[in-house]
Amino acid sequence: SKLRVGLLFGGRSGEHEVSISSARAIAQAILSDQNAQKYELLPFYIQKDGRWLPGEIAQQVLTSSTPLQLNESNTQSHNQTSLPIPTSPDLLSSSSTPVTDVDVWFPILHGPNGEDGTIQGLLQLMQVPYVGSGVLGSAMGMDKIAMKMAFAQAGLPQVKYMAINRAQVWSNPCVFPKLCDQIEATLGYPCFVKPANLGSSVGIAKVRSRGELETALDNAASYDRRLIVEAGVVARELECAVLGNDNPKASVVGEITFESDFYDYETKYTAGKANLSIPAPVPESVSSAIQEMSLQAFAAVDAAGLARVDFFYVEATGEVLINEINTLPGFTATSMYPQMWEKSGVPFAELVDQLIQLALERRG
Ligand code: ADP
Ligand code: MG
Ligand code: MG
Repeated sequence: SKLRVGLLFGGRSGEHEVSISSARAIAQAILSDQNAQKYELLPFYIQKDGRWLPGEIAQQVLTSSTPLQLNESNTQSHNQTSLPIPTSPDLLSSSSTPVTDVDVWFPILHGPNGEDGTIQGLLQLMQVPYVGSGVLGSAMGMDKIAMKMAFAQAGLPQVKYMAINRAQVWSNPCVFPKLCDQIEATLGYPCFVKPANLGSSVGIAKVRSRGELETALDNAASYDRRLIVEAGVVARELECAVLGNDNPKASVVGEITFESDFYDYETKYTAGKANLSIPAPVPESVSSAIQEMSLQAFAAVDAAGLARVDFFYVEATGEVLINEINTLPGFTATSMYPQMWEKSGVPFAELVDQLIQLALERRG
C-alpha cells in the first residue's frame, strides 16, 4: 500500500504565504506520475492562528490560486505571543484525515513555529518520521546567535557580529547609548541589525548612522528577545543546497543578484526583482570551498535531510564568509533550493522523493 505523506503547511509566521507556495509545488510532485504509485498525499493547513485544518479545506488552499484571506487571524500582529494549540476540533473530529493516518510528515513551514524546532518537537513526540532537521538542528539553524556560535566552533569564517538582547535595548535608558557606542566602535557603519529568530529578511535593517541604528534596534527588538548586529560587507551572495543525513551531498553553487540595497523581503518575493544564476559564475576554487563549507555548516548545527547554506563572496579579497543556514528553505518550483538540485541532476519530483526516503532512514 501507499505511504501516506502528511504535508504540513501555512503556519504561524510571516512566511505563511511562502509556505503555501512551497506546499503547492511539493504536493504536485507527490501527485506526479513518478511518485503517485508510491505516495498518498494528506494535506494539513495550519492557519495563522495556529488551527490545523485537514482534508478538503487544506486541499482547497493547495489548489486555489487566489491570495488567502480565510479569516481575521491573518491580520494578527507580528509580536503576538499567545501560545498556539496545534490541534483543533476540526482536526480531531475529521474522519477523513486524522493525524494518526500519517506515515511520514513533510513539514514545509518557514520561520518561527515551523523551521525552529517547535513543530519538529511535536512530530518527534508523535513518533512519526518527518522530513528535515530534528529539534536541535532546526533550533540551531533558526537562531542566528546559536548558529554563528556553532559555525565559529567549526572554524567557519564569518562577519564580525555582536549578540544583543531586548533588555539592553528597552529596559534601561542609561545602557542604550553605551550599547550604541559599543556597536559603532566594534562594527562601524554600515551594519545590519537583525532579530535573531526570523527569516525572509523580516525585521532586518541596514544602518548607516546613529539615528538609524537606534530605530533599527528598537524595531528588531519588537520581533525578538534576541538580536544580532553584524558588520556589513560588500559581497556577492552565493548559495549551496545540501541533501542527505549522515553523508550529505552539496549541490552546484548558485548566485543571487538584484538591484536593491540588500536582499530584503520585497526583493525576495517580488517576481523579477532577484535573478538566480546556477551555476554561479565564480572560480572553481570558490565553488568547491563553498560546497565544503556547506557540508561543515550542515554538520555543525546537526541539520538533516535538507538545508540551504548562504555565503558572502568578497570578490575584492577572494574571501568567502558563511552567512547562514536555512533548514527549511523556500521550496517553490522556482526557489533556489530545488533549482540548484535540478542543475545538479536531481529533478524536483525526485528531490521530493529522496527527502521522504531520507526521513524514513533517519527514523530510530
Ligand atoms: P534572513 O535569514 O532573513 O534571510 P540574512 O541574515 O540572510 O537574513 O540577511 C538577509 C539579507 O541581508 C542577506 O541576504 C544580505 O543581502 C543582507 N545582509 C545580511 N547581513 C549582511 C552583512 N553582514 N553584510 C552585508 N549584507 C548583509
Ligand atoms: Mg534565513
Ligand atoms: Mg538569508
